[in-house]
Amino acid sequence: MLFAHDTECGLTAAAALVNTAGPDREGLPDVAALDEFFTAHAWTGRHEHTGAELREVRALRPRLRRLWHADPDEVVTIVNGLLRESHALPQLIRHDDEPYHLHAVPRDAPLATRMAVEAAMAMADLVRMDELSRLRTCDHPDCDNVLVDLSKNRSRRFCDAGCGNRAAVTAYRARKAATQS
Ligand SMILES: [Zn+2]
Ligand SMILES: [Zn+2]
Repeated sequence: MLFAHDTECGLTAAAALVNTAGPDREGLPDVAALDEFFTAHAWTGRHEHTGAELREVRALRPRLRRLWHADPDEVVTIVNGLLRESHALPQLIRHDDEPYHLHAVPRDAPLATRMAVEAAMAMADLVRMDELSRLRTCDHPDCDNVLVDLSKNRSRRFCDAGCGNRAAVTAYRARKAATQS
């Protein structure tokens, strides 16, 4: 493990949230989709299942996406802004079956606030460890998903949406075409 468990979870969840906002698709079209996202990423705590909550979560995405493209000073500005607006106060807590980890807002804070703060806390770790280069975008030419490279040798190139397979198939076909011509 490169980073603390909660940092890695926070980074992965932030990337997944950013990737629900594609250029031509909406990954969180309705409250049910947010419910699914909530469960898939093992979120706990307050969850209202309302349109207002959904709008707040969606509105967070462009701000988080910016972290993948910003220089370190801008990342710091965004992270500090998110923490300040959310009145973040780091506290070690234990809940469900998890060991002690940091929460910086109460578990009954709005979902979008908790998503923002969890992402910001995880990003703060990356900044402190000078590891912002772990934030990458997918190498597939047709994909603009973001990813977090948590591999030891920094070898991750593709997002979770099957782009690695797609690229392998394309390369295979190209090789085959080349040997047949
Ligand atoms: Zn927790
Ligand atoms: Zn991709």
